[in-house]
Amino acid sequence: MKLPRAKKSLGQNFLVDESYARRIVRALGPKADETVIEIGPGRGALTELLVGAAGRVLAVEYDRVLVALLRGRFGGRADFELVEADALSIDYCAAICPAQVARVVANLPFNISTAILQRLIGQRGCITEMTLMLQREVVERITAPPGGGERGYLSVFVEGYCEAEALFDVPPGAFRPVPKVWSTVARLRPRPTPAFEVGDAALLWRIVSAGFAQRRKTIFNNLRSAPADLLPRVEAAGGAGTLLDAAGIEPRRRAETLTLDEWAALTRALE
Ligand code: SAM
Repeated sequence: MKLPRAKKSLGQNFLVDESYARRIVRALGPKADETVIEIGPGRGALTELLVGAAGRVLAVEYDRVLVALLRGRFGGRADFELVEADALSIDYCAAICPAQVARVVANLPFNISTAILQRLIGQRGCITEMTLMLQREVVERITAPPGGGERGYLSVFVEGYCEAEALFDVPPGAFRPVPKVWSTVARLRPRPTPAFEVGDAALLWRIVSAGFAQRRKTIFNNLRSAPADLLPRVEAAGGAGTLLDAAGIEPRRRAETLTLDEWAALTRALE
């Protein structure tokens, strides 16, 4: 069978080394009584190991050519459902119905991997676990503790909602076409309740985003020049200095050194 060419615009780097496909599915450990969502099944490298092992596989693919290929390969199976949709806009909780919860496995398209991750976290009410292959650098950011250069908005966001751990690295040679960078498989488990206590979570994420806006600047300077949807509130609270003082944060620190608790304290000081 002639395989369709990989589309760069859809982040298509297909896993061709079966030993890594097996390792990913082993890390997931699919069960006969569960629904597993696979995002971006592509040519089916992971899918073929999932069907028969998970009770039900719900595969979400955007590329019409691959959808046709996957239908041909797995379409006759009762435990396989293919959803032709955009992983960035699909309602996962509705799609898994009648199941109430599901686990996710994916070799995510590089170009939109963090956007998909944020969407999955947004639907954490029905997602109990994610086993995701991401660029190694993204996993380093996700798992970065406060203090290091990798710590950024995504690190704080993921920490707020999930427990995350890096499982193993995958070399570029395991894919076709061969990407420029290494990948890492990570496991993320949404927490039963967020790891922060604030009244307005949207405000928290606006503050974190403003805090990291210019990484070389101090937290004080970033808050002093916060975007228009935040600045009036900062000023109404007495300005960036007063706010940081109320939260017990030294104004010369940089955003990357702040803990999740400190971001939450800053938010409460503004609420
Ligand atoms: N799972 C396959 C594998 O491991 O070989 C393919 C992984 S490839 C890195 C990413 C897959 O995501 C491709 O099949 C691509 O078509 C699909 N994809 C890209 N953008 C998508 C989107 N917005 N929604 C759903 N699938 C998407």
